Amino acid sequence: MQTYTIKPENEHHEGHRGYHGTAIVHSIESCGTVDGPGLRFVLFLQGCLMRCLYCHNRDTWDMHTDKAQELTVEQVMKQVLSYRHYLKATGGGVTATGGEPLLQYEFLRDWFTACREHDIHTCLDTNGYALHYDEILDDLLDHTNLVMLDLKQIDPEIHKVLVGIPNTKTLNFARYLAERNQPTRVRYVIVPGYTDDERSANLLGEFIGGMENVETVELLPYHELGAHKWELCGDEYKLKGVHPPPKETVLKIKEILEGYGKNIIL
Ligand code: SF4
Repeated sequence: MQTYTIKPENEHHEGHRGYHGTAIVHSIESCGTVDGPGLRFVLFLQGCLMRCLYCHNRDTWDMHTDKAQELTVEQVMKQVLSYRHYLKATGGGVTATGGEPLLQYEFLRDWFTACREHDIHTCLDTNGYALHYDEILDDLLDHTNLVMLDLKQIDPEIHKVLVGIPNTKTLNFARYLAERNQPTRVRYVIVPGYTDDERSANLLGEFIGGMENVETVELLPYHELGAHKWELCGDEYKLKGVHPPPKETVLKIKEILEGYGKNIIL
């Protein structure tokens, strides 16, 4: 297995934190319904290197904040196991999200390994910004039942405007998942003016069309629900006035992606 390390493009932000057996956690949702199959125990991890204009978790960007809590795998598992029967009865499990959970991939590896020892389904909700391709990442993916990969925009220039950084790392990660034949659900946010056009949908279809590991594509219409968090963080929300896409747009994108042989979840 080739081992290599990629430097972050946006050097002004920190990459991985040093691992001391704990995770920096933003919050926990014990019975989530939108982050993977069935009921999910959802762990929101701090830290993200992307800067999506529509980010609905603006308060997770900084790794170090007074409001975050530091938890060990044992502390998290104690909670997970108390919900285990509910999660299993619904075909659910645990989901790591954020922020960007891969920034704390050592913890994820340890947490997902513990979950799999208890036969609990694991789901990694990621933007694909993997900094290190090494044994830890492979071990994590070996213990991941489903990757939910955000592909925000295939066009590199629009991606930079929408997300603040290039999409190279995310696309490389998608290719890596395909090479591993890792079960993957792609998530695509339909943002009016940025990702809602037919060309963007076709670019996505062309990119994932031949990836047999991509079982489904989940279409997520843009919403403004996270805007207030930007204001609380003292930032201007630049998509003010952008409204959710009309149903016809969502259906058109669905139709285009179905043309590339993908199952669509709305
Ligand atoms: S990747 Fe997710 S958490 Fe990071 S900025 Fe984008 S929407 Fe927010």
